Amino acid sequence: MPKIVVLNRMHLDEWLSDQVAEVLQSLAGHRDVLGFTREAPGPGWKPQRGYDANITDCFPGNPRGNREQRDAWQVTRLARKADLILDIHGTRNPAENFPFYGPAGRSSRLVKGTASLLGCEHSVIIEAPHPAGVLHNYVGWDLGPGSSLIEALPGLLAALAKGWMPPIRPMAEYQVIDAIQEADALRAGLQPEYPPFMRLPDRAIRTLGLPAPAYAFSWDANLYSQAGYWGEIAAPYRDHPASRRPTRERAELAHLSVVNGSCSRLHCWKASFLAGLPGEATDTHIPLLRNLTVHR
Ligand SMILES: [Zn+2]
Repeated sequence: MPKIVVLNRMHLDEWLSDQVAEVLQSLAGHRDVLGFTREAPGPGWKPQRGYDANITDCFPGNPRGNREQRDAWQVTRLARKADLILDIHGTRNPAENFPFYGPAGRSSRLVKGTASLLGCEHSVIIEAPHPAGVLHNYVGWDLGPGSSLIEALPGLLAALAKGWMPPIRPMAEYQVIDAIQEADALRAGLQPEYPPFMRLPDRAIRTLGLPAPAYAFSWDANLYSQAGYWGEIAAPYRDHPASRRPTRERAELAHLSVVNGSCSRLHCWKASFLAGLPGEATDTHIPLLRNLTVHR
């Protein structure tokens, strides 16, 4: 029987963590489903992604590191024996549901089948050091408030643990390439709101120095402007030729920080994407990196 590990509350500020924790509690003792729910923050706690860091930046983790690095380490160890890692996150937009996985997951029937359960036409590919790119057999769900998948979760997990292979839906694959600050959004004439994965006007995208076509991703000025951003931009996923594959060092050079955004964001997506562009394009895009918050 396949061994399934379900990750919950990787981020501390999401609507569904308590509900998922209850489901996982009800499955405690199941031979083939192991729930891993991170400790809930105490009362009076100010919403933030993590205790000491954003855990999706911390993989594969460190047993002697900060709280997120230690939890990441534990997850990495659990993942070694699992046939599927399902990582459940929550978006802030009821219209925004999407699955995500790493480049290796693209050729896994179980990963793509489990991603297909959301019924989306889109999926997001995330590379290392995000856990999607670090852990084998990883699939993430980012679910909008009220998603019916939470109710269906006990049945789905039981079926998956019995070896059920959900049918694979065709999904267009994207990668997130940038987070756009309010001033840049205004300068480019972008609107405060776009539906998920709506194609953005080419002219606006070129004004921002980004390659077209590009699509809205987690785009809502009301939700994200307190963090200084209106939203993120996604582009169709392309494989990076081996010679241009982003290295960890390159990625860390531009370790970008956006708080309270979507979960599948990887701070170095931008660097990964730029590293995969032809040389000249990379040079023209470098100034954009300076506009983004750099943290260590
Ligand atoms: Zn999250």
